[in-house]
Amino acid sequence: MAQPIAVTKPVRRAAESREGLSGFSTQEMYREILFRLGEDPDRDGLAMTPERVEKSMAFLTKGYEQDAGKILRGAMFDVDYDEMVIVRDIEMFSLCEHHMLPFFGRVHVAYIPNGKVIGLSKIPRLVEVFARRLQVQERLTREIADAIQEAISPQGVGVVIEARHLCMMMRGIEKQNSSTVTSAMVGCFQHKETRSEFLSLVRSSGSGAV
Ligand code: ZN
Repeated sequence: MAQPIAVTKPVRRAAESREGLSGFSTQEMYREILFRLGEDPDRDGLAMTPERVEKSMAFLTKGYEQDAGKILRGAMFDVDYDEMVIVRDIEMFSLCEHHMLPFFGRVHVAYIPNGKVIGLSKIPRLVEVFARRLQVQERLTREIADAIQEAISPQGVGVVIEARHLCMMMRGIEKQNSSTVTSAMVGCFQHKETRSEFLSLVRSSGSGAV
């Protein structure tokens, strides 16, 4: 009989209402879930599954241990440039907090500097910090915009995310080709002209859903 493998990192204290489960490792709990789904957790294909799921979930939620402000503070530069900076088609994978199923798509980020810019490679990293948590697409969009606003106080920030949600595609209404578009516009991006310039630059990327 396969024994649950010891956890790889310290287990966080169980939430108040779950005190009774605090003696069980994460892998033991995944093993129990497999059993309740009607599976035999000891069969060959599943024996290592609790360990794999634990590691995979730790990776998919590693954003909880990362600090967006810290990442951005390490890569800010003074500039004399006040045109739109845009980073588009950033790949994004996240988990919806309602079903813990993936949603994935593309993120487009733009801002107009006010004396400072962020190293371009940090923008995809910033997206990762917030995407690697349990999320809703609307909050993810807002958090990316707010983090940039807070770090460099630009004239404005715009973030657009287009994503497909497996919780919609695989279950429930099964709208397999629908994508969800969310946007957050801060400062000068609330003005019609700036917003339209940003959106037309995003559209010309050919990703098509906006
Ligand atoms: Zn969902």
